[in-house]
Amino acid sequence: MSRSFVRLVKMFLVLAVAGFVGLTAGARQNNFTVGTASAAAGEKATGYINVPAGVDAATNIPVVVVHGAKPGPVLAIVAGSHGTEYASIIAVERLIQHLDAKEISGTVILVPLVNVNSFEQKVPHLNPVDGKNMNRMFPGKPDGTQTERASWLITKEVIEPCNYLIDMHGGDLDESLQPYSYWPKTGDEKLDTVTHEMVLAFGLGHIIIDTGRTKDPDDSRYVDNTALTRGKPAITVEAGYAGTVQPEDVNALVRGSVNVMRYLKMLPGTFTPVENPVWFSKVVTGTSAHDGIFYPLVEKRTFVQQGMKLGYITDFFGKTIEDVRAPVTGVVLYICAVPSMKKGNTTVDVGVVATQAP
Ligand SMILES: [Zn+2]
Repeated sequence: MSRSFVRLVKMFLVLAVAGFVGLTAGARQNNFTVGTASAAAGEKATGYINVPAGVDAATNIPVVVVHGAKPGPVLAIVAGSHGTEYASIIAVERLIQHLDAKEISGTVILVPLVNVNSFEQKVPHLNPVDGKNMNRMFPGKPDGTQTERASWLITKEVIEPCNYLIDMHGGDLDESLQPYSYWPKTGDEKLDTVTHEMVLAFGLGHIIIDTGRTKDPDDSRYVDNTALTRGKPAITVEAGYAGTVQPEDVNALVRGSVNVMRYLKMLPGTFTPVENPVWFSKVVTGTSAHDGIFYPLVEKRTFVQQGMKLGYITDFFGKTIEDVRAPVTGVVLYICAVPSMKKGNTTVDVGVVATQAP
């Protein structure tokens, strides 16, 4: 064998070993990219999911990738589908500031504000560009209106690449809401076990057992359900109300997210799952029979008996035209926070306490 051939063989071996080492360590060396945010392992990157113009205007959804130094699962945390549920948006902003990629095992995708136009124009519930609810049109369509195009890209760029998901909400501008989470009981035992542990780890003391979500991945409607119908554990949590950013609401959402990350072993440290939470078997909604002015008589979280007077509606001349009564016995999870009342609008949501904890 010639010397140069031996040298060539040696070089090949060195390269092959280097390649193998590179490959095995590669998962952590590769960048993790969502939209224009691309983070190397141990780094945090910011960017946008660019929703191109279609039948209506383009929009850019901010996104942050915290790509942990160590391997682990991918957790997506989404907020602001309703752009005036401020406490949830601010909670994700806090997580963006505080999560340290050097400490994290796995990757966190943070989407603090899906519905930028709702936030900027202070329009509750809907995307003012097309009048659609940004938590009802999933999985979206690449050629639909802005809400559908945005939903499509969130499905592709955020939900499909994640292993676990938390969708954050709260009382909107017109909603006085008691913090709670939803436990989605899908009937898939593996999924239900993990989401059950996730809601307990998250720690809110009121939990709605949600059995009503569609099982069709092509008509998943909600952010959490888009993950669930794709086999990924997902929960929805709600805190905050009526345009406020109360520290206790923001803290509950931040602490809950950190505890779920500890449960998933993405962060070091221990957590205590909430003990003996109040479980609700269903939520019954009361609606107004009239246009007029709403006067509440109880606060959120009040325990009420079916038929109890919770508020009243007057016409614009002060004459009472309707008593708002509890549609069922349970806990007021939400009561209208503003005087504006339209026929058919929600006056109150009452949670029916489950007779047995699941
Ligand atoms: Zn919401």
